[in-house]
Amino acid sequence: MSENCIFCKIAQGSIPARKVYEDDEFVCFHDISPAAPVHLLLIPRKHVVSLQNVTPEDSHWLGRMVALACRLAAENGCRPGPQGGFRLVANAGADGGQEVHHLHFHILGGERPWQGRMAAIA
Ligand code: AMP
Ligand code: ZN
Repeated sequence: MSENCIFCKIAQGSIPARKVYEDDEFVCFHDISPAAPVHLLLIPRKHVVSLQNVTPEDSHWLGRMVALACRLAAENGCRPGPQGGFRLVANAGADGGQEVHHLHFHILGGERPWQGRMAAIA
């Protein structure tokens, strides 16, 4: 738990979010400003600032987080198969466009077109 971290507070339950999943390691909730028909955020409960701060020792929980993201995409409206799919985005640092400094994956999916900064394919 890091003081003044909005995602730590969501994980803890002290500020509200539309949660779709939680376990002892991870929490997943709807992005407050969706950029696609499906726009979820998946976070570790542990306060890690960004992918810039992970080391090889983090590979086990990061692997579980990626696998969970794919499962949650399928369970929350991302369409199956090659005509469907989803986008997994992790912004890291200022150059990466990160605004909330608690590691998170954006899970984006649903029918296109999408709006805004997550919309580009190229
Ligand atoms: P990033 O630029 O990758 O750090 O993205 C942060 C994301 O968090 C943005 O898409 C915001 O819309 C989203 N966000 C910020 N505050 C909240 C909140 N209280 N509940 C849900 N999503 C949030
Ligand atoms: Zn945090």
